[in-house]
Amino acid sequence: MSTASQVAERFRPFGASIFAEMSRLAGEHRAINLAQGFPDFDGPEVAKRAAIAAIERGEAQYARMIGVPELCRAVAHAWGAGGRFVVDPETEVTVTTGCSEGIINTLVGLINPGDEVITFEPYFDFYTAGVAMAGGTTRCVALHPPRGGGGEFWFDESELRGAFTARTRAIIVNTPHNPTGKVFTREELSLIASLCLKHGVVAITDEVYEHLIFDPARPHISLATLDGMRERTVTLSSLGKTFSLTGWKIGWAIAPPSLTAAVRACHQYMTFSSATPLQHGAAAVLIQPGDYAACLRELFARNRDVLGAALTRAGLRVHPSHSTYFLMADHSALGYGDDRAFVTHLIREVGVAAIPPSVFYHRRELGTPLARFAFCKKAETIDLAVERLKNLRPSGA
Ligand code: GLN
Repeated sequence: MSTASQVAERFRPFGASIFAEMSRLAGEHRAINLAQGFPDFDGPEVAKRAAIAAIERGEAQYARMIGVPELCRAVAHAWGAGGRFVVDPETEVTVTTGCSEGIINTLVGLINPGDEVITFEPYFDFYTAGVAMAGGTTRCVALHPPRGGGGEFWFDESELRGAFTARTRAIIVNTPHNPTGKVFTREELSLIASLCLKHGVVAITDEVYEHLIFDPARPHISLATLDGMRERTVTLSSLGKTFSLTGWKIGWAIAPPSLTAAVRACHQYMTFSSATPLQHGAAAVLIQPGDYAACLRELFARNRDVLGAALTRAGLRVHPSHSTYFLMADHSALGYGDDRAFVTHLIREVGVAAIPPSVFYHRRELGTPLARFAFCKKAETIDLAVERLKNLRPSGA
């Protein structure tokens, strides 16, 4: 029997993770890895100290299924510190092994076979895999690149309205958005909220980049805070992006008790609980975040600008990014063909890795002119990539 035939049918459409594949290729070719989104520097001392102290105290056994009490309280505190409504740490917070597990828990805990889930494309690939694991069907609404100078990724209101059917169970809203760097506006979120209310649909939000906002005029808004949405929203976030601790895999779900029950129904059998000492480290830094996120914002905004300028000089059309770790750029003028062909050239011949984003689209052709670059790195790493990008020439030049 071939290896492929051993994989369950539900996973066959998905293939190998693009993040694993591109990180491996980057390593093989000693390319600077601007593909998978992770910082190349350390997280805050306060988190590390508290995790080490927990190990030294002998906090070595399973954590409570829903999360250690200190972290559930710290998550509720951090949520409230953003000026949002008060949540009960016991009945409305669940700690997960990264936001990724939160996504799977929420989808598998909530979706019945045959249910439809709406997501915007491009999407983080866990969404469609999670819907498939739950036996549901994904319906995509396109985020289109800006139409020329300025502007930003946008969606068509009638396409969104048309995506809601009698079978729609949930909509996934990722704001700030990976991979485009879009921050959904209040108007856009209000439209989504009104459609959720009209059709009795649950909102699942992925807000892991909530603190990495570069433009104060474009603040992050949690969909759950809009009128009528608290009762029908599962808000997912994590420690990893805000504090450069992506490998700790600590995330959480905030939801009213009825939706929390669905998240926990899956979580208890998915991982049961997350690493105990790391939960203590997470609690400490959420209570004492200091100015870590502000420093990250400053560094990443600088990196975005420097990298964006270099890509523009090389002949790409760079789309604006207001947040996250990422920017999208159109490479088609360089003449390498689709996104995979362009990225392969970039890794092998230029020594810089990026993600070919067509894997984030159902309509693959919407992604083939684009490449996603991660700028969540030390300034010197980005400067080195900028040096190497001087060797990027149009195909055949
Ligand atoms: N969120 C990260 C990215 O978009 C990758 C997460 C992962 O590797 N699964 O690059």
